[in-house]
Amino acid sequence: MSCLFCQIINKEIPTDIIYEDDEFVVFKDIKPKAPVHFLIVPRKHIISINHLKFQDKELIGKLFLIAQKIAKKQKVAKKGYKLIFNVGKGGGQVIDHLHLHLLAGWRTNEERDVHGMP
Ligand code: 5GP
Ligand code: ZN
Repeated sequence: MSCLFCQIINKEIPTDIIYEDDEFVVFKDIKPKAPVHFLIVPRKHIISINHLKFQDKELIGKLFLIAQKIAKKQKVAKKGYKLIFNVGKGGGQVIDHLHLHLLAGWRTNEERDVHGMP
């Protein structure tokens, strides 16, 4: 049986895919760790950053350009966002199919000050 993300990519598991092209698929994380949380996933089944090959250098470059595009589309680019790869079990990786987390949507310190909130 193929991995969970391969099943999502192959549309064997219905998922709200917000972007796809011939090399990448982007969808919302099922258990978001931020107000905005997307997973940017190459169609190619690479287990993790540890398993990248030299010939994957173009793919991994494009992955960041997709992240930039999604951040703009989701209107979080200006305010800012985090990009995270969990690598291996010790790095918190649960799904063994390389994916980049895009997290955003928190209030900034300045916004907190304006509202007098902690
Ligand atoms: P990891 O810990 O491997 O870096 O991240 C895997 C992420 O995939 C987690 O944040 C988890 O919530 C998310 N996830 C796990 N299963 C599913 C699923 O079936 N659908 C979606 N959309 N996200 C999932
Ligand atoms: Zn896979």
